[in-house]
Amino acid sequence: MENVLDYLINKGYLPSSTNLAEAISLLGAGKRVIEIVQDALDGFYKLEDEDMRLPLEAIAFHTAIILMGRIGGKWLVNRLSISVSKSMREELNLLSDQDLVLLSKLLGLHTFYQDATITRSQKSGPSMLYPFSVSFYSYLKSTKRLTGDPSWKLTNQMLLKGRVLLDRRRFIRILEELIAERVSSLYEKYADLMKLPSLPPPIQEIEAYLKESLANVLSKKIVEGRDYAKNQPLSIDAFPPCMKKIYQKAIEGENLSHAERFAIATFMIAAGADEEMLLEVFSHSPDYKEKIAKYQIEHLMGKRGSGTKYRPYSCAKMKSFSLCIADCGTRTPLQKYYLNLKVKNKVEDQSDSI
Ligand code: SF4
Repeated sequence: MENVLDYLINKGYLPSSTNLAEAISLLGAGKRVIEIVQDALDGFYKLEDEDMRLPLEAIAFHTAIILMGRIGGKWLVNRLSISVSKSMREELNLLSDQDLVLLSKLLGLHTFYQDATITRSQKSGPSMLYPFSVSFYSYLKSTKRLTGDPSWKLTNQMLLKGRVLLDRRRFIRILEELIAERVSSLYEKYADLMKLPSLPPPIQEIEAYLKESLANVLSKKIVEGRDYAKNQPLSIDAFPPCMKKIYQKAIEGENLSHAERFAIATFMIAAGADEEMLLEVFSHSPDYKEKIAKYQIEHLMGKRGSGTKYRPYSCAKMKSFSLCIADCGTRTPLQKYYLNLKVKNKVEDQSDSI
């Protein structure tokens, strides 16, 4: 928080030595903190962009992150990060190529801008322009969550002198990912403030109001969600390590990559999960939209489209996405699940007969 306060003090927006609680009172930012948290839950954040309101927005935004972390943990902060990055798409589309390059640098991505734009003629489509390029290392780092979609895989990119060429649409998509990462990293940055037993007034009052007004939503998503595994017919205990890890991340509201979503959904379907169970798991996702999730699950189950039921990934495929985290000696995660189930049932039978 010091960085934001220091910045506003140095720019003359706040008197020197102002602390966070004083800044909120001085700027009247309490109402905006509540709006930001509610916008995050609705999946829509709109930046207050009038110059005069920027100090207020900065203080309210960072306070909202601290309170969201205290009330709803990383799940709620991730929800805001997705909401912010999506709301930025419109703004990014309005920027010139040069401004996008400048912004990418601020976000830590070293981008090259080709003066002479490279054009690729596609046999079965129009020519494509690639004004931007990034090193393949930066590309891999910033597209971690996207590479489940084959069109983002490194092998499907145009490379020039060790750099990946990007068209404007894809470059903006990468910037959105970096913005989401930047917001969600504030959860770690403010971890100490999130652990304090109490905060000074007026932040305490805002927190109390949010806790009360969000109690229903949060208790369903967080409290019941964490206990959910205990009550469902699938044996989460018997999941292989890779699936346990993805499942845990989903329940804790982490933003799963496309490959992780596909892996856990197809695995659970094959292991006997029904649509309702899967919806419950994905409902913790920061970008959850029930209608879309329902459609995607039904598609994977073969209830829509061509009627094909999608097969879960093999261990080899999991390895290729860096999702394999142990050497189980099986060909598929499902095999490992059934082996674990057998062992588990045997142990339970033996303990019943003692
Ligand atoms: S070996 Fe297979 S089942 Fe085991 S962690 Fe790796 S992918 Fe999962």
